[in-house]
Amino acid sequence: MRIAVVRETREGETRVALVPELVGRLTTLGYDVLVEPGAGERALLADAEYADAGAVLDPDAVDDADLVVSVQPLDPGTVRRLRRGATTVSFLPVGQELGLVADLRDLGITSLAMELVPRISRAQSMDALSSQSLVSGYRCAVVAVGLLRRFFPLNMTAAGTVQPAEVVVLGAGVAGLQAIATAKRLGAVVRAYDVRAAAAEEIRSMGAKAIELDLETLDGAGGYAREMSEDRAARQRELLAPYIANADALITTAAVPGRTAPLLVEAATIEQMRPGSVVVDLAADSGGNVEGAVAGTIVRIGHAQVWGGRNVPSQMPGPASRLYAQNIVNLVTLLTRADADGAPTLDPDLDDEILAAACVTHDGVVRHEPTRVALE
Ligand code: NAD
Repeated sequence: MRIAVVRETREGETRVALVPELVGRLTTLGYDVLVEPGAGERALLADAEYADAGAVLDPDAVDDADLVVSVQPLDPGTVRRLRRGATTVSFLPVGQELGLVADLRDLGITSLAMELVPRISRAQSMDALSSQSLVSGYRCAVVAVGLLRRFFPLNMTAAGTVQPAEVVVLGAGVAGLQAIATAKRLGAVVRAYDVRAAAAEEIRSMGAKAIELDLETLDGAGGYAREMSEDRAARQRELLAPYIANADALITTAAVPGRTAPLLVEAATIEQMRPGSVVVDLAADSGGNVEGAVAGTIVRIGHAQVWGGRNVPSQMPGPASRLYAQNIVNLVTLLTRADADGAPTLDPDLDDEILAAACVTHDGVVRHEPTRVALE
């Protein structure tokens, strides 16, 4: 079975879908791995490392591949080079990629979207949303430390005492909890808020203080948050404003699946922050939690520097690729079985709960219901 690893072409993408260490594991199991030259370059992984792990470097890797793995969706030109019946595994934000989904359908490609892998216990090892959020959350805290021109921890010295930084984190999912844990490890005083009922306990378990607001909690399906009404959103912004005005660093990570990110903080609130304060908005790429944040750059609002995240996992391409690759290998294992000679063969059971949820197109049909409806 031939697995192709592409060199990512989307602007700003630095990750790669398989790292040499895991290529070595696949080749030992009998898979043939073909890698486009330079695939790992931006993640600081040399072609020679892939070759040493048993991969074949091949600019035409995708042409005869049974399975093509990537981080971003393949570009339309690459999709047209695939053989009918080939399988692709990548992030595939179906709502934004309807044209590509139609191509995959029409060309008879089986496509699986990593963000559609269900968040059930059995699929945890394939959960790329979580692995990449872990990277993002850590990165957000480190960016805040880097921009803030003061200590995070308390320092008691002969020259006097330096008070710790006050950090507020909004949104305590996978990324938010990692930002909290990182800021705590660095010694900051951390307060955090999330709309889900279970979040307060999770925040406290990280050693942070949970901000408790006199508002209804918003638990949706599958452990995710529900969208706020505009009234509740306005009240939440008002109640959070004093905490934000008092913070040295604000980190926002709030999201609601399938929606643009909720607006949690108005520019007028940022204007109340002290000179030297820092705002890190992980959600800037998907609408923004902070009014005025711009993805991929730093803007000044009042006295604060406001950093807007853009493809944040790509800012730590080595570890992000390593974690993503492990998710991919676990999914590949689910897609294959050993043939009579013990060699791995692509043979997905699309009725399996995980594959049924993650499969977007197969055999000329869009299997992901909302996408099929959107394409009609
Ligand atoms: P996400 O990226 O969709 O959202 C990030 C956070 O933003 C969530 O915690 C959400 O509650 C919060 N949020 C949304 N609107 C908000 C608002 N108005 N104000 C403040 N916060 C707001 O979520 P995620 O990080 O992917 O994880 C969400 C949940 O899923 C968590 O409970 C997580 O533990 C759970 N989870 C479970 C599994 C599993 O069982 N395999 C895997 C991953 C995550």
